[in-house]
Amino acid sequence: MLDIVTYGNEILAQKAEPVKEFTPELAAFVEELYDTMVKGHGVGLAANQVGKLLRIFVTGVDGDKQRVFINPEIIATSPEEADYEEGCLSLPGLYTHVMRPAAVKIQAWNEKGRPFTFEADGFLARVILHENDHLNGILFIDRLSAPRRERALNQYLRRARM
Ligand code: ZN
Repeated sequence: MLDIVTYGNEILAQKAEPVKEFTPELAAFVEELYDTMVKGHGVGLAANQVGKLLRIFVTGVDGDKQRVFINPEIIATSPEEADYEEGCLSLPGLYTHVMRPAAVKIQAWNEKGRPFTFEADGFLARVILHENDHLNGILFIDRLSAPRRERALNQYLRRARM
């Protein structure tokens, strides 16, 4: 199992680099990401969160199979937005409502180097957008208004100190 980095670690604010080669090592890393996500009871995990600046994230939402997205590009998002409570393995214990597009169309590669296009709505769309943000150094609290972000962060930091 890989170590999950938490808020305050600079890597979470950095932009991840594209994957250039689809190797057995890459496939093994994807397996480790899945394992770490499952053991952490997460529904998604990005490579930044385990200290690797690579454009890779995995999802594992209830009722859906585990999916990997390598070098993902968001092709389209719905104009409709949805408001739902979110958490993050890198800010353990913090849950707050975030507005995001209700649906997403994304293009990516799997660990074998096969490209695919995928459409999602509901909770899976939210997870995809949350994880894709990680690859650009964006956390879910960064999607809040400045006062709400500060409040959420203070709440998290108070908790983290206990
Ligand atoms: Zn997260």
